[in-house]
Amino acid sequence: MGSLWKSLENTDPEVLSIVQREVAREKERINLIASENYAPVSVIEAQASVLTNKYAEGYPRRRYYPGCEIVDDAERLAVKRAKELFGSEYANVQPHSGTQANMVVYMCALSPGDLMMAMDLACGGHLSHGSHNNLAGRIYGVCHYGVNRKSECLDYDEISAIAKREKPKLIIAGGSSYPRQIDFAAFAEIARSVGAKLLVDMAHFSGLVAGKVHSDPVPHADFVSSTTHKTLRGPRGGFVLSRANYAEILDRSVFPGIQGGPFMNVIAAKAVCFKEAMTDDFSIYAKTIVENAKALCEKVISEGLRAVSGGTDTHLFLIDVRPLGITGKEAQEALSHAGIDANMNVLPYDELPPNETGGLRIGTPAVTSRGMKPGHMAYLGELISNVLKNSKSLSVIEKTKREIFELARSFPIYPDFEQ
Ligand SMILES: *Cc1c(COP(=O)(O)O)cnc(C)c1O
Repeated sequence: MGSLWKSLENTDPEVLSIVQREVAREKERINLIASENYAPVSVIEAQASVLTNKYAEGYPRRRYYPGCEIVDDAERLAVKRAKELFGSEYANVQPHSGTQANMVVYMCALSPGDLMMAMDLACGGHLSHGSHNNLAGRIYGVCHYGVNRKSECLDYDEISAIAKREKPKLIIAGGSSYPRQIDFAAFAEIARSVGAKLLVDMAHFSGLVAGKVHSDPVPHADFVSSTTHKTLRGPRGGFVLSRANYAEILDRSVFPGIQGGPFMNVIAAKAVCFKEAMTDDFSIYAKTIVENAKALCEKVISEGLRAVSGGTDTHLFLIDVRPLGITGKEAQEALSHAGIDANMNVLPYDELPPNETGGLRIGTPAVTSRGMKPGHMAYLGELISNVLKNSKSLSVIEKTKREIFELARSFPIYPDFEQ
């Protein structure tokens, strides 16, 4: 890597300095953004390789370019490992992102104008699940289910009733800010009862599935989509799993359906990520993510804050900041000034708009990658609660900022690697 940085220094010191400033920013701050993580150096090296040069439209041994024998090995390895890791009959590792992975499934399972049913954005759904701001929302019809107003959890009787009324062709389970386990068998039963296909979007929790600390969607879903950069801790990208009977149509939906040439460097990095996710160390990592999330959530609750649904079973939870007399945006800004990154998020049935919100989403994948344990979460929870309760106090924010800086310094992200 050393010589690569040398070239960048010579040709474009401006960009090198951006990279260096970002390295420093990562080091100094505590990252509680539930969708982020730190890719290991092995992943970054594969991604920074000359495999970025190769055009490889098509699939291994069925390419539209010569000279693909070697990158074919990278893709075959990534596919083999994805199938092994998740116990799936088919995997496509070419989607550039989680949103692309979802589009691929829509193209395969729906015709323009068909209806899909997904979790409401306000209750934890994702923009790529048919939002009117997204291409899928223009092509397909969409209806929604939410969470129960009282329990703030999924209510399968209610979801079943909506499915029977609306008769969607595709039902999507999985979201971006739902803190609880999802009953995939119940979703599969609902889908079967109305003749719909089931897509589980495990973008957020695929690392927990790989580490066997989350219910497993693969035996229940027709399709599973995911990112590789969230809890799975790989390069920025996506993939799709399914049973073998959809192999051909899914392959065609990716290419030439919605993408051109795959990013072979990223596919190699995905192979590395899947290998790492098969290790015992990764299982321990996944388990610790959840233990940390529970510990952090319990601490902020004990400090008097309210968590949506009363807690978490996963890597994330949502704090309702409205009782503190602030918005999610104000909470995000106060924490940011104190060196903590966590993002504002709409709450179920939030009356505030998405650019203000009444909630704050907190996740533990990144701090767990840094080596933090439940004991550290108690301390972090205390700092967070103190800032949120005193969000207008400059002295509290300044003091917390110094403590966060010290905490961050004692947990290096890349201990053996100087960038
Ligand atoms: C993050 C996420 C995605 C999309 O990921 P991108 O890679 O940003 O396109 C899709 N679905 C859900 C539920 C997500 O949380």
